[in-house]
Amino acid sequence: MKPFENSLSYAQACDAKDPLRAFRDEFHFPQHEGKPVIYFTGNSLGLQPKGAAAALKQELDDWSAFGVEGHFKATHPWYSYHEELTGSTARLVGAKEEEVVVMNQLTSNLHFLLVSFFRPNGTRKKILTEQRPFPSDTYALASQIAFHGGDPENDLVEVAPRAGEYTLRTEDIIARINELGEELALVCIGGVNFYTGQAFDMAAITQAAHAVGAIAGFDLAHAAGNLQLKLHDWNVDFACWCTYKYLNSGPGSVAGAFVHERHLGKGLPLFAGWWGHDKKERFKMERTFKPMPTAEAWQVSNAPVFSMAVHRVALEQFDRAGMDRLRAKSEQLTAYLAFTIGAVAKETGSKLEVITPSDPAQRGCQLSVLAHGKGRGLFDALTERGVVADWREPNVIRVAPVPMYNSFEDVFRFGMILKQALQ
Ligand SMILES: *Cc1c(COP(=O)(O)O)cnc(C)c1O
Repeated sequence: MKPFENSLSYAQACDAKDPLRAFRDEFHFPQHEGKPVIYFTGNSLGLQPKGAAAALKQELDDWSAFGVEGHFKATHPWYSYHEELTGSTARLVGAKEEEVVVMNQLTSNLHFLLVSFFRPNGTRKKILTEQRPFPSDTYALASQIAFHGGDPENDLVEVAPRAGEYTLRTEDIIARINELGEELALVCIGGVNFYTGQAFDMAAITQAAHAVGAIAGFDLAHAAGNLQLKLHDWNVDFACWCTYKYLNSGPGSVAGAFVHERHLGKGLPLFAGWWGHDKKERFKMERTFKPMPTAEAWQVSNAPVFSMAVHRVALEQFDRAGMDRLRAKSEQLTAYLAFTIGAVAKETGSKLEVITPSDPAQRGCQLSVLAHGKGRGLFDALTERGVVADWREPNVIRVAPVPMYNSFEDVFRFGMILKQALQ
């Protein structure tokens, strides 16, 4: 490949060659002074697919036309709505169809899965997680430990970066797993850390956890729709993710869950509800719970059709784009962003430190930038000029060009604005 160039013509030439460029027109972009913003916050809330409104309206129309009969007569019958999402979801995360289900929301799914997969037993009671996981994950893990009568101070163990480093080394995670050995019940880590943007080696972590007799689960909030995942082949025990970040399915939309096939139909303890009951007999309304033989056993409630309608549109875009093509573009786009930030820092004599790993295998599309001494001010200056990025305490600016709708020109323009803001 030719070396990158920090010029508009170069960026536009990259866009002209991008096989996914047409997807940009399928999204609504917020406007700044009459022009689309530079939207680098798909890691927080993905943009709205233009097809979302019609999909929602279809459900409203079917509700008005059919009332309760919409459960079976709607264009997309509500009774089995979640089943229409299964194929795309399995492709998205590298799973078999029976291993995935779309339900609830992310932290709820984490709790429901922990009920089955965190079962402290004697001295095997610890959970290993990464330092500074997303706060909701810490709350969920600590409360599960307390729920089982354990002490989160001792039993929730965090792996930290080495002194002077920002991200974790796989060898250190694995060393910690081995050190905890028979005390370790569960490794529960984000697929991609929300703060640093570091992608973890899920296959290696899973293998190490299994080698000491522990379970491996992942929160894929920042990984689903961002990385190419192979949950089945990696032998991951369970995983969950939200759909409003990289998956563009709208604020608070329905979430996803994965349970590896080897755990299906094994009578694992779970918190049951009627939608997890064998669907052929669900409406017999019998007293005894008979779980579905698939990940659907973990469903408790009937499908939230309005958020699933948007998610269906978004998943259909992922099917058309293909995670392999998205990932190929993403590696280029993020490398171009790293190059641009470096070029601007040099030109303006500024200290901008990207703490996200430079190895493409260890990151998704997000870069986390430390602007020593001027973080918040710089962030505000970018915002005033039409960049939608994200500020995270204590001092990081997160920028995430997503391959589905961002362009190389977006990256170039971001660089121009960054330069102005620094001057
Ligand atoms: C975004 C995010 C959440 C948010 O949880 P919700 O239940 O969807 O509100 C949780 N964990 C991680 C790692 C996240 O990135």
